Amino acid sequence: MIEPAPKKPGEKSARQQSQNSASDHNPKEWPSFALETDEPTVFAHGWISGMISAVLGVSSLGAVICFHFPGLTIEEIRGQYPVDVIRGLIHVTLIISFVFATVSITLRRNKTLGLVGLSSTLIATLLGGSAVPLNENISNTWLGLDWFVIDLLLYSAVYIPLERLFPLHPRQPTFRREWITDLIYFFLNSLLVQIIGYLTMKPAMVLFEWCRFDGLIELISSLPLILQVPLCLLVADLTQYWVHRAFHQIPFLWPFHAIHHSAEAMDWLAGSRLHLVDAIVTRSITFIPLFCLGFNEVALGVYVVIVVIQATFIHANVRWTFPRLQSWLATPCFHHWHHAAESQAIDKNFSVHSPIWDRLFGTYYMPGRWPEKYGLGKTREVPNGWLKQLFYPLTRISRRKG
Ligand SMILES: [Zn+2]
Ligand SMILES: [Zn+2]
Repeated sequence: MIEPAPKKPGEKSARQQSQNSASDHNPKEWPSFALETDEPTVFAHGWISGMISAVLGVSSLGAVICFHFPGLTIEEIRGQYPVDVIRGLIHVTLIISFVFATVSITLRRNKTLGLVGLSSTLIATLLGGSAVPLNENISNTWLGLDWFVIDLLLYSAVYIPLERLFPLHPRQPTFRREWITDLIYFFLNSLLVQIIGYLTMKPAMVLFEWCRFDGLIELISSLPLILQVPLCLLVADLTQYWVHRAFHQIPFLWPFHAIHHSAEAMDWLAGSRLHLVDAIVTRSITFIPLFCLGFNEVALGVYVVIVVIQATFIHANVRWTFPRLQSWLATPCFHHWHHAAESQAIDKNFSVHSPIWDRLFGTYYMPGRWPEKYGLGKTREVPNGWLKQLFYPLTRISRRKG
């Protein structure tokens, strides 16, 4: 576990040094991208039909590509897919996507959403549609295009309506500034799920086998799930708390994590913005105690599902506060403060699952309202765009050496 040296009074952390508390970010600047116009996004203006068409069209296209190149799917779950049911779903989604694309293009001045839906539907149909032959010639790629399709459908179905119905920032559109960058993170996180999973687990398995004791493993893995899962969450969160804090307070590590904090709008997609080094280092260190303590596979599976749900939800643009739970459970308000640009909120609320670790280690910050601004403020050095952000930490390191 990496534990940063305690701060001397008045000493600034890596994040504080690189941040000015003021921010010139203006919420009016949010809708500055091609997919958003001044046109209403409520019912009967072609936005909802366009969104449905685009999501279903892209998902169908992804599914059809998976039939052509099964090597792009996850090997472990490939055999479990009900192929005939999926063919039926592709058929239905292509029809719905086509119809809704036509509705959106007819109703809306901005045709982008409708055209995305229409073009992806047409390409999917030209590639075989629901009658696409299943290629038996499989060469594994370690990619998870099927995982991206599942993620896209599930997250869009849950979070897009949720953020439209209960928004914390009603003026923040779905296609806010830098949403394309976050969509690329979302796409790659899904596509690389197996590789990231392997890099998360392998270091612990290779380096910490000596740390596993049969008696302890027997005891922990035989506990009922109702005890094992909360214990797993608490242990993981304690480790993650210190790894996360180290990323904030050790200057060498901060540029990797600054990418996550460069998001200036909070929503379900913003949570995807994580540098690969940040994601892999955090997850692989977090996995070490879980591996050594010997939680069983079912408990670890439930833990992963909870992580995925909570990590997305705490970033969402929803106004729910959960007053009775927020002292014990990480909520959107708790994590929005972690992303706040206000100086009092810097280096606060590091926990991912339960604020008890922040309360114990003196970093809990919940002032009874929501933050007004997010991100790194005026002195933000993080560039825009996935590729530039991938290399940004390396440029910081070389600059420091030079
Ligand atoms: Zn952070
Ligand atoms: Zn976050």
